Amino acid sequence: MNALAEKLAARIDRDGPLSIEDFMTICLLDRDHGYYTTRDPFGAPGDFITAPEVSQMFGELIGLWLWSVWQAAGAPENTHLVELGPGRGTLMADALRAIEGATRQASPFCLHLVEASPTLRRQQRQTLGQRTITWHDDLETLPVDGPLLFVANEFFDALPLRQYVATPQGWRERLITFRDKRFEAMLSPDPSTVALPQAPTGRVGEVSPVRQSVLATMAQRIAGQGGAALIIDFTDRALPLVDTFQAVRSHQFADRFENPGEADLASAVDFPALARTAGENGVAAHGPVSQGHLLAALGIEARCATLKQNASSEQAEALDAAFNRLVSPEGMGEDFVALALLPNDQPIPAGFEVRAS
Ligand code: SAH
Repeated sequence: MNALAEKLAARIDRDGPLSIEDFMTICLLDRDHGYYTTRDPFGAPGDFITAPEVSQMFGELIGLWLWSVWQAAGAPENTHLVELGPGRGTLMADALRAIEGATRQASPFCLHLVEASPTLRRQQRQTLGQRTITWHDDLETLPVDGPLLFVANEFFDALPLRQYVATPQGWRERLITFRDKRFEAMLSPDPSTVALPQAPTGRVGEVSPVRQSVLATMAQRIAGQGGAALIIDFTDRALPLVDTFQAVRSHQFADRFENPGEADLASAVDFPALARTAGENGVAAHGPVSQGHLLAALGIEARCATLKQNASSEQAEALDAAFNRLVSPEGMGEDFVALALLPNDQPIPAGFEVRAS
């Protein structure tokens, strides 16, 4: 048993079974042994690859999207660019380089990174060089004196969820206990009042109060201060009535309860639920549209062609492979989707126009 397993087992012994929400938070962010706190999990030798790590094209196009949304709002002064869960800082570096290349000026934005992991903060500092950066533990400390332009790629999937199982007595929460030297799932003895639709016995339902609350904060800030948000993540059409809680290690699915802190834990993001919360908090939600659709609308094909002009044949092949991975349905093109949040009076942003079917 690793050190985090000992710690979790002792806690369950003392306080009783843990919710999946608490288990996931501890596994990912425990100060001494958490997955993100202690390592840089990205890239080929790591556990998983995210879109900005696949190709610079991703961050570049998102940078230009953020800049165009800011232009459409009248290029307000004192705008803060906020990335939630920036990982290695790759998306932000590519975004800023694209903005500065297109405008031939220094980026007009103050830079804020919301990052819980000290290890990844150090990596972000390295990737972003000498730029002025303000780090935040959460959204509460973000400035109140100007518009906030948020970007969050594969951040919401890392925020913890709760799971419930349908029983003849109604929904009961799935908890994690420690028995015979193993962590295992059990059902809460009491039925829950969670707001999930009725479902046949045995069906799993997922909700994430943490994600809803982060989204509500973003929406309230945008409604009050101006700005926008672009949220990209993987989803599942069967949500909320499906079990999507997963562990990934060395690019493969792993047991969710074994070797806590050593695998990435995540679950698919319920975009309709996020969009509803946005509306309830006074901003317009556009989309979700698929990642493939968004990147195509933002001109990834032309960007790829430009990059290929100065590439060796090997590099050109790598660019084509990256393009396919980001855009095609076999890659991330359909399972990943994007949602945009804007003040109600702002025009529909690029890539989110309603598609004629
Ligand atoms: N956006 C990056 C990384 C995604 S991984 C990319 O696309 O490559 C998730 C990121 O969110 C990591 O940087 C992780 O440390 C951070 N994170 C996870 N939970 C967090 C929380 N509760 N608060 C702040 N950051 C968190």
